Amino acid sequence: MRHHRHRQERWLHTRISETLEDALKREARRRRLPVSLFVRHVLEGALDLVEDLVETSMRGARPAAARDALADVYGWQEIVLHRDAACVRCGSGLAAGARAHRGLRERPGPPVFLCAGCLARLRRPAEPGDEKEASR
Ligand SMILES: [Zn+2]
Repeated sequence: MRHHRHRQERWLHTRISETLEDALKREARRRRLPVSLFVRHVLEGALDLVEDLVETSMRGARPAAARDALADVYGWQEIVLHRDAACVRCGSGLAAGARAHRGLRERPGPPVFLCAGCLARLRRPAEPGDEKEASR
C-alpha cells in the first residue's frame, strides 16, 4: 500500500552524526514540531541565507567586474543619456537626460558610463597605493 504524497515532494536521504541528530530532535521537541518538518524549515532557512550571501558577494564583486569592463577603455566622451543607465564604477543611477561619460573602447562591447563624480576622481592624480597598473 502506497502512502499518498504531494507530487512535488521528494525524499532526501542524508547521513548525519549522532550529535546532529540529537540536536535536531531536541530542537524539534522544543518547538513542538515533527523532526522532519523542523529539518525542512532549517534547510529552507539555510537556502534563504545562501541566496542572501550570493547576492551580497555579487555586490562585493562589482568593483572587480568594473575594472574588467574598463580594461580596454581609452577615453571618456561626454554625452546626454537617452536611456537610464548606471555608473560602471560606483553603480549610481544615471537618469535619461542627464550628462554622463561614455567609455570609448578599442573592441566592441556593451557601453560603459561614468558619473560626474567618478570622472572627477579619474582626473585627479592617482592616489598613492593605487596598484592597478602594477598588478597587470
Ligand atoms: Zn560613479
